[in-house]
Order: sequence, then C-alpha cells, then structure tokens
Amino acid sequence: MDRSQSTPLSKHRTRRQALGLAISAALALLTGCASLTGSTDRRSGGAARGIADERVLIVGAGIAGLAAARALLQQGIPVQVLEARTRIGGRIWTDTSLGTPLDLGASWIHGSAGNPLTQLAREHGITTVRSDIEDAYLYETSGRELSDARYAETDAIVEAIFVRLYELQETATTDASVADALTTILGDYQLEDALRRAVDWSLVSSINIATGADPTDLSLQHWETDAAFAGDELLFPGGYGQLIQVLARDVPIQRDCVVSAIAYEGEGVRLTTSQGTWEGSRALVTVPLGVLQAGTITFTPALPTGHQQAQRRLAMGTLNKIALQFDRVFWPEDAHSLGVLQRERTRLLEYWSMLPVTGAPILVAMAGGQYARELEALTPEAAADHTLRDLRSIAGGRVPTPVGVLPTRWSADPFARGSYSHVPPRASLQDYASLAAPVGSRLFFAGEATSPNYPATVHGALLSGRRAADDIINRVGS
Ligand SMILES: Cc1cc2nc3c(=O)[nH]c(=O)nc-3n(C[C@H](O)[C@H](O)[C@H](O)COP(=O)(O)OP(=O)(O)OC[C@H]3O[C@@H](n4cnc5c(N)ncnc54)[C@H](O)[C@@H]3O)c2cc1C
Repeated sequence: MDRSQSTPLSKHRTRRQALGLAISAALALLTGCASLTGSTDRRSGGAARGIADERVLIVGAGIAGLAAARALLQQGIPVQVLEARTRIGGRIWTDTSLGTPLDLGASWIHGSAGNPLTQLAREHGITTVRSDIEDAYLYETSGRELSDARYAETDAIVEAIFVRLYELQETATTDASVADALTTILGDYQLEDALRRAVDWSLVSSINIATGADPTDLSLQHWETDAAFAGDELLFPGGYGQLIQVLARDVPIQRDCVVSAIAYEGEGVRLTTSQGTWEGSRALVTVPLGVLQAGTITFTPALPTGHQQAQRRLAMGTLNKIALQFDRVFWPEDAHSLGVLQRERTRLLEYWSMLPVTGAPILVAMAGGQYARELEALTPEAAADHTLRDLRSIAGGRVPTPVGVLPTRWSADPFARGSYSHVPPRASLQDYASLAAPVGSRLFFAGEATSPNYPATVHGALLSGRRAADDIINRVGS
C-alpha cells in the first residue's frame, strides 16, 4: 500500500531459486498423477506421505497465490491456480500501453531492509531505484512554490499533529476514529488560510492517499500499528510485474476462470468456475477482502462465524491513479512528488513524476478514499480535467494537453472491489488473523487481508502466501 510517513511532508514511509528440478517434479506429478500414485521416492522435500493424492487448487494469481504455488511446487505438491482475469498479478499491474512500464496497482517496496521483495528482486536481477519520499514540491494556486520558511513551518505543525495523534491513540477507545482525534487536535490551531491548506494537503497525502480511506473510516487505536520494514522505499523502473513474471514461471495457471462456489464438505474440494468444475485435495483462497465481502463466491458449508465477522468488520479502501503522459516536461525535473494547495480540504491530489524513475514525461495523480471513488465514476477525459486546475499552477498557467491518459477504477473492479484493506473503528488487527485461519484441513486463506503484521502491502501478501503453503505442507507430511 502507499503508506504515509509519520513525519509531515514525507510520505509513504513505513508505508514500506531457482526452483528447477523441484518444479519439474511437481509438474510431472500433476500431469501424470495416476501413474505416480504410491511412488513416494521420487519426491523432493519433507512432504513425504500422501503427496500423490494432493492437488491444491489456488484461487487467484496475485502475489499471494503465486508465492504459495511456488512454495508448494518446491515441495513436490501439485497445484492448479485459477485466475478470473486474463492477466495475472491482481493488484500488481504493470501496464505498457503508453509505451513505457507504468504500475497502475502497487508501485513501492515499502522498506527495503530485510524485505523479502528486495531479496526476490535481487535474486532475479530486477532493477530497483530509491524513491525520494521525503520531498514534495508544493504550489499555491497562484503557481508560486512554497518558500523554505513555509515548508519548515508546515513540517513543524504537521509533526506536532502526528505526535498528538499518537498520544490520543494511547488512550483511544475502539470507537474513536482518526477524524475524531484530528477534530480535537485541529481545534487547538488557528491557522491562516495558506498555512492551513499546506497542513491539509500533508494530512491528505499521509492519511487519505496512504491508506485509501478517509480519517472517518480509520480506527485511531489501530492506525499505523502494523509492522514495517526499515530502509529505503524502492520503485521498479521496469514495473512491479517483473516479480509476478518470475513467480509465475512454470506454475500451471488457468486464466479467465472465475470461481463462483467452493464446496469443502467431503473428502476433497470442488470448485465451480466459469470454466467448469475443478476438483482437488485442498483449496487456497487468495481473492481480495472486497471479493469475499461481495459474496460472489459461495462456500459450502458456510464459513465459520469468526471469518464472517472479520469480513464484515474490516474494510477496503480505494487509491486510484490517473496517469498523464505529456510531450514535454513542465515540472521540476528532480521532483519525485508534487502537490497544489487547493482550498478544498479533502479533494486533493498528489502527483508522482515518472521522470526520475523511467525518464518518461508522465505524472501519476493519486487520490484516496471518497475522492478516489468519485474520480473513478468519470470518463478518462473528465478525470483528467480534474487534474488541470492543479497542473495550471504547476505549469505557470499554460497546461499542455496530455497525449495519453490512463485512469484506474479499483473500486468498480469486480475482482478487487477496492485497493487494499484497512481497520475501521470497532475493528482490529486481530480480524486479519481471523481471516487467515484455515477451516478444517481442506480450506486455506492467504492475501494481504490475512496478514496481521503487514496488511495492505505486497510484502504482506507474499508472506501470507508462503505462510499458507507452509501450513499445507505440514499437513501433507503429517
Ligand atoms: C492502486 C494501488 C496501489 C498500491 N500501492 C502499493 C505499494 O506501493 N506498495 C505495496 O506494498 N502495496 C501496494 N498496494 C497493495 C498491494 O498491491 C496488494 O496488497 C497486493 O498486491 C495484494 O496481493 P494479493 O495476492 O493479496 O491480492 P491480489 O493481487 O488482488 O490477487 C488476488 C487475485 O484473485 C483474483 N480473483 C478475484 N476474484 C476471483 C474469482 N472469483 N475467481 C478467481 N480469481 C479471482 C484476482 O483477479 C487477483 O488476481 C497497492 C494496491 C493498489 C490497488
């Protein structure tokens, strides 16, 4: 997720094998399962008994599903991934239709130190670059950039607001929202209009855009209490999708295959899909929380109360992007992020420049929460129009017409139904653990919303896939 900095104008902070023979062996087991029944001596790893009877059906070819598939194949356990879309990667989506790689879903590795994604990228020779999340270029609507003194003043105020937020968090009841706390805190400040706008922009960047949720929808008690990796924030000049490609290598994936029902009451599992019925020994469900909440997949028997309650309590937020391609650069070439201090308090955009990342003259506007949902209801042209008021300020009045526009619509996407999860008032991080719990020995869950430590992130999703695979491997071996 795009996690905010705990410091003011800095954003997206903590907001963060070769498989070779093992895969070939697993594929052989998958294709020639019957002939290998009972032949345990050819298998690798610790999953010795019962392996020939195994076939794990994995719902979803996002990073959680693919990480699980690889871990299982590595142990010689056959898998079949069923993916609703014609593309793989889910909320990792590198688009090239503007002639250059653009991440329309996840962009950042949040925290490079000890992060399994950094290791994966390094192992496969995938280039990452450091993203300068500390400095945003901020403009008044007149087109004037903030003075150094104003930047410093804004920083100091926003930092003090965050310190107060954390203090109030210590004593918060479960019912309090981040908005409740902000109302209390901001009541103590009498800010002149220009300074107030700078503070508002920083808060929207750090809260609404980072979490995809408005402060009214965020539990104060659980806000930013998840774990995070230290180190740099990294971007992929060639796109996050490169990680998906290496994870998907040699994994059997059925695309365009929408799962609508999962029956797990008998000896195995039976999945009803848009491409017929699939049978297996176990199912691993990695679809987003929003898809589970929508009830488009029915479970027989129904999921236990703990799962159902956690699904109801947690929520999906929305972060949308509008990529704008220009024929020339009109913003500072060294800028990583930019913003314009409009009068409205919440309908604010933050722009990330692709120039330092790929050299492309592209700005990616980002909006979070309710404003993001409003934007996705518009046509691409109308959505781009929303950026013009800002771009005029940045461009000194003359705005070049974008030569390409690419908006995302994550809330309307039937296979995502939002961008990533968050904890609303009255919910808790424990709800993520409830969603991760297996049901009996046949039904397992993974995905970002099953990670109590790192929800809403790519690394959380990756680790959840590996956790679910380990659980299955242990049961197969026992
Ligand atoms: C705009 C945006 C920006 C983000 N930025 C960042 C970031 O910078 N850094 C970061 O760490 N995280 C970021 N995230 C979050 C990150 O992308 C996700 O947490 C992570 O990719 C989730 O992976 P997953 O495998 O859990 O789910 P998904 O990637 O959603 O995979 C689930 C898969 O299930 C499939 N599916 C759904 N329904 C069905 C069905 N009925 N049948 C079959 N298949 C189905 C979906 O198509 C999908 O492929 C961002 C997300 C978005 C949307």
